[in-house]
Amino acid sequence: MSTRGNIEEIFDSVQGEGPLLGCRQIFVRLGGCNLACFYCDTPQARRPAATCRVETIAGTGRCDFIPNTMSVEDVTGVLGRLRITGHHSVAITGGEPLMQPDFLRELLPALKAEGYTNYLETNGTFPDELAGVIEHVDYVCADIKIPSCTGEPERFEVNLEFLKACDVANLFIKIVVTEEVEMDEVMQAAEVVNASGRRATIVIQPVVGRRGEIGVGGALLLDIQRRALEAHPDVRVIPRIHQVLRLA
Ligand code: SF4
Repeated sequence: MSTRGNIEEIFDSVQGEGPLLGCRQIFVRLGGCNLACFYCDTPQARRPAATCRVETIAGTGRCDFIPNTMSVEDVTGVLGRLRITGHHSVAITGGEPLMQPDFLRELLPALKAEGYTNYLETNGTFPDELAGVIEHVDYVCADIKIPSCTGEPERFEVNLEFLKACDVANLFIKIVVTEEVEMDEVMQAAEVVNASGRRATIVIQPVVGRRGEIGVGGALLLDIQRRALEAHPDVRVIPRIHQVLRLA
């Protein structure tokens, strides 16, 4: 019997963060997370979901609910119905998708076999699990969490191991910041990226409120970027746009 996954939702939208901002994607959000960030915008996905919300026609928001868990064939069947001409990729997100490594080891190659590009969004804390699937991933967007902004303990060593395992052509590092940010922690995060030896774009992403208001002042964002650029050559400030566009 094939492995089954706990999926919170599957829907069509645009990528609202990072260098691929605005690209059309299908999102597969897996249920369950090992962290509890202060600013979490998907608290419902921090635990496994009883049912999966599945959009039925791309871009309409109309949906069905399917009992969990789901097989790889269940997921690819939904994706086939949502697929439109010009989709950039399938965003595997969460929660934390790498908490279900056995399922990803079956799902990701199945998606590649059907011609999809795989984009993995992860909190960057499961290096061994990443190593088991990285050959099937085209893009990785990995967080480095800043303790002063998340309320979580620092995990820079595990972040470094994660990035070393991140043998992928397209690597984005997301650092979410709030007004409480400690600059030293941002600099440590930039040093982690450098120490990994990976060519990566660092994205400084200010927290955004429910109505799309940016939660960090412009002067502070410029200062963070200026300091981070002293440690790493490619650092961009890009806010999240889902709330602005009123998208999922
Ligand atoms: S890692 Fe992501 S899903 Fe998990 S608590 Fe933090 S923001 Fe939420």
